[in-house]
Amino acid sequence: MRALPEGFAAYAWAPSTEELAARASLRPAQIVRFDGNVPARPPASATPAAVARAVAGVSSYAHGGYPTLVEAIARYAGVGTENVVLGAGADDLILLCARAFVGPGDSVAVAHEPTYPLYRVAAGLAGATVNGATTPAVTFCCRPNNPSGELVPLPDERPLVVDEAYHEYAGETAAGLLEEDVVVLRTFSKAFGLAGARVGYALAAEPAAEELNRRQSPLPIAAPSAALVLAALADPPDIRPQLEERERLSAELRMLGLDPRPSAANFIFVPHERPRELADALLRQGVVVRTFDDGFRVSVRDGEDDDHLLRALAGDAPAPRTAHVRATARARVYVRLFPGRAGEARIEGIPAALAERASDAGFGLVLEAVGEEPACSDEAARALDEALEEAGR
Ligand code: PMP
Repeated sequence: MRALPEGFAAYAWAPSTEELAARASLRPAQIVRFDGNVPARPPASATPAAVARAVAGVSSYAHGGYPTLVEAIARYAGVGTENVVLGAGADDLILLCARAFVGPGDSVAVAHEPTYPLYRVAAGLAGATVNGATTPAVTFCCRPNNPSGELVPLPDERPLVVDEAYHEYAGETAAGLLEEDVVVLRTFSKAFGLAGARVGYALAAEPAAEELNRRQSPLPIAAPSAALVLAALADPPDIRPQLEERERLSAELRMLGLDPRPSAANFIFVPHERPRELADALLRQGVVVRTFDDGFRVSVRDGEDDDHLLRALAGDAPAPRTAHVRATARARVYVRLFPGRAGEARIEGIPAALAERASDAGFGLVLEAVGEEPACSDEAARALDEALEEAGR
């Protein structure tokens, strides 16, 4: 194989939930991940029926691509269909931009470091160096930036690739600058809650979009993923509750004497002197955060999970909570049991008759059910039984 540039470091994924659980002598169901920057649940549009429809045609190629999806994305983004390039997540489009703009010996600029590490990986894969002495062949800018959450200033350099993975939370975009040699990258992994579907898109001026599409792999998106995204675009997410929860979590972190940075995304960076020591202590309670040299980053999940994080950070050493998912063709049920919080309950999607069972067993309960009655209530009761058994093990 062709040698990679000296010092090249491949993209490093966070460890699997199974591995983290083993390290902490916990079960995977007891691990809560605050390190992925994704919503806690799929979008309302991803019902069991919609998922069943999405896989119904899976034996066939999407001949000619996904014109309906491209149209829906163009409408959502306020551009023409000729400006849209599809990819398997924003990651795929970062790699596509790198191989389209740079070659061996070129230099790539990465603005506002520390930032998302894949720009550096993509540059290396294309044979380029990062922030070298020569004029950059392309500049990458993450806005809002990961991990700071800051809505950083847009660089003047061109061509410029702006990674807007978190733009829905920020409400700002560079999509008005496409004709000025700017490419915008977006994803359905974050605000839309479809990270596992792996769908992203680039917005570019027509000639640039055409060049990117010529270099893209044939059908980079799986048909079931395309169907789930199309359904989600018919009913885009309301991110206001997430923004409110982010501000509540920030305020609570300040109450603990921490100094969370202001964030324009769905995560919060918290400066800290010994982040890795802290992360190890949190992991023993099933709480996973992302560490950096000078702090840690937490995703905003929802009220109950974020309270669990806050208790762990406060040194309350909460017993690990148990999560359980039950999914059938008619219903999908998410159960969380919080030891020592009997009496607290939130039940969504079915009548609230199950709270007492969890409370009697000594647990706070969150139960979220999606599906059609009567299957939904039946499956919810089964899911709670299974969760109680799991938590009692
Ligand atoms: N860009 C940034 C800034 C991110 O944080 C992430 C997700 N970690 C991605 C891109 C990748 O997104 P996708 O799931 O669409 O590949």
